[in-house]
Amino acid sequence: NAENGITEMLRTGRWWRGNGEHVAEFEKKYADLIGAKRCLATASGTTALLVATHVLGVDAGDEVLVSPFTFIATYNVIFMNKALPVFVDTDPETFLINPSKIEERITDRTSAIIPVHIYGLPVDMDSVNAAAKKHDLKVIEDACQAWLGEYKGKKLGTLGDLGCFSFQNSKNLPAGEGGAVVGNNDEIMDRSYSFHNCGRPYQSVKRTSDYPIRGSNRRMQQIQALILMSQMERIQKDAGVRLEN
Ligand SMILES: *Cc1c(COP(=O)(O)O)cnc(C)c1O
Repeated sequence: NAENGITEMLRTGRWWRGNGEHVAEFEKKYADLIGAKRCLATASGTTALLVATHVLGVDAGDEVLVSPFTFIATYNVIFMNKALPVFVDTDPETFLINPSKIEERITDRTSAIIPVHIYGLPVDMDSVNAAAKKHDLKVIEDACQAWLGEYKGKKLGTLGDLGCFSFQNSKNLPAGEGGAVVGNNDEIMDRSYSFHNCGRPYQSVKRTSDYPIRGSNRRMQQIQALILMSQMERIQKDAGVRLEN
């Protein structure tokens, strides 16, 4: 039950992550839950994908490989980076990107692959990562429907360079709006934090000026973090039932 915590937070006036503790606390809990070293909370799944694609270098004129079967946000984010989504067809048995069709879609403009774990089904990440490694591509997992889903004993979202989650109200872990980026590379996660906070310094992003890198505001609010933390046990129970079924 989040109600008491929310009332208390409202009365303190510390409504944003900069002067309140709840968003950072949620990030710790979510990283632990997913088995990632770090988590950055964001305003939404879309903004999580915007942060991840930006910090991994997706830029104007790039091509990004993606499944033709996902929510529109996956494509919108690629277009917002002035890049081109390139479809790699799905496997009709799984509804997921068919890794054997990745290589034929790679050109000298391809910079990243966004595998989408649609309906929580796990993409064959070993094959995706092998193709990415061979061609020096970044891998951003769209895990916006894949909270606590697993691939070979690891949680989805932890298998590529970065993983992105959504906590929109229609999702299994809802907070009205919300999202997260998870990753294991400190430098990339520091850049993600800085980028999502207007390009301000953060740990390895040093204070060479007040705003050392180009950034944006993609921050999660305190109220979202409290709503999410009130569901950490429920989501694990539900995921257990789903996996069993
Ligand atoms: C929900 C969803 C998103 C976007 O998340 P929002 O929180 O709605 O911005 C992206 N990709 C997939 C596959 C989704 O289901």
